[in-house]
Amino acid sequence: MSVGRERLAKHIVGLPKSGIREFFDIVSTRQGVISLAIGEPDFDTPWHIREAAITSLEQGKSHYTGNAGLMELRRAIADYVRDRFGGDYDPAHEVLVTVGASEGLDITLRALLNPGDEVLYHEPCFVSYGPEIAMAHGVPVPVETHVEDNFRLSVEALDAKVTPRTRVLVVNFPNNPTGAVLEREDVQAIADFVVRHDLILVSDEIYAELTWGGKRHVSFASVPGLKERLVLLHGYSKAWAMTGFRMAYVCAPAWMMDTILKIHQYQIMCAPTSSQWASLEAMRQPAEDMAPMLRAYEMRRNFLRASFAEAGIPMHNPAGAFYAFPQIAKFGLSAREFAVRLLDAENVAVVPGTAFGACGEGFVRCSYATGIDQLKEAAARIARFVKTL
Ligand code: PMP
Repeated sequence: MSVGRERLAKHIVGLPKSGIREFFDIVSTRQGVISLAIGEPDFDTPWHIREAAITSLEQGKSHYTGNAGLMELRRAIADYVRDRFGGDYDPAHEVLVTVGASEGLDITLRALLNPGDEVLYHEPCFVSYGPEIAMAHGVPVPVETHVEDNFRLSVEALDAKVTPRTRVLVVNFPNNPTGAVLEREDVQAIADFVVRHDLILVSDEIYAELTWGGKRHVSFASVPGLKERLVLLHGYSKAWAMTGFRMAYVCAPAWMMDTILKIHQYQIMCAPTSSQWASLEAMRQPAEDMAPMLRAYEMRRNFLRASFAEAGIPMHNPAGAFYAFPQIAKFGLSAREFAVRLLDAENVAVVPGTAFGACGEGFVRCSYATGIDQLKEAAARIARFVKTL
């Protein structure tokens, strides 16, 4: 009797491979590449935060915590979310510490979706959204955003895709990969749309602190009356440069949290204890920890904007996160061809926009979570490359 792939779960086998992975496989075959392809901070986690993890281990804090996470940490999170996001969450019943926003998204979707439920999300977007929705037995329904609108999500575009089967809307601002942010009126209009269509909103605000040009992030948690329909995802990976700690949190109303927590409890038990102690330390002086990183990102962003402009590469204003999303369509190559040929000719890696959805065609993502010297060299090589096209 033979056994093979027909035995695997069809809804997983059918998922496409990540477009980023495919491209990294090509990059990994080469030496000396300057990579603008990576989606994580180039900074190390501030030392006092790492030290808190070490101290916790020295003190023998190597046991499980409560399922929802350390109470001290949940209290600190509730305070931060109130002060920074304008949201009011009870740390005992409405805050859950997770293994990255990745886990938060997964368990939220699994708690909310029944098979066949439709989920709206906007593209270009983080590579995980479509697959995560499908893995939770939902039906992913992408909604396009456009460079002409600075990649803001419009209610007209949402209206065109919503059906009686739509249950959830997933949004991410500041956005990976476009760097787009929302204005307060956008946030209110999307919140009104969610209420009008009786949806639940899952807002991935993992880049909340990373906004530029004097803009300040507007959180969906600050919209009066939305809380009962909102799941807020936020974490430590980006603004604190703590990707490897795998720490994030979910804020949701108690009626939902009960069920989200059930999945976390059976699947994860609790987030890693030493990472939780590190995160508690990260809550002590967030502004001081972030300031030097934020200064560097903004300076690099300004540099990239100026150098793309000088090279004749059009780009909208990326007002948040640490990604630039220049438009390369005018050079007559597809996004993938552009990325492959740039790598070939100049040893610079950028990610084709199509890795983030079909409407990313004509764009490439350049991460500026890369040191300024490398960024300068990469920009010079890109400028030289486009002259040959
Ligand atoms: N959401 C977005 C929009 C992201 O860009 C990322 C990381 N690239 C994540 C979630 C995952 O973050 P975490 O490390 O907290 O799992």
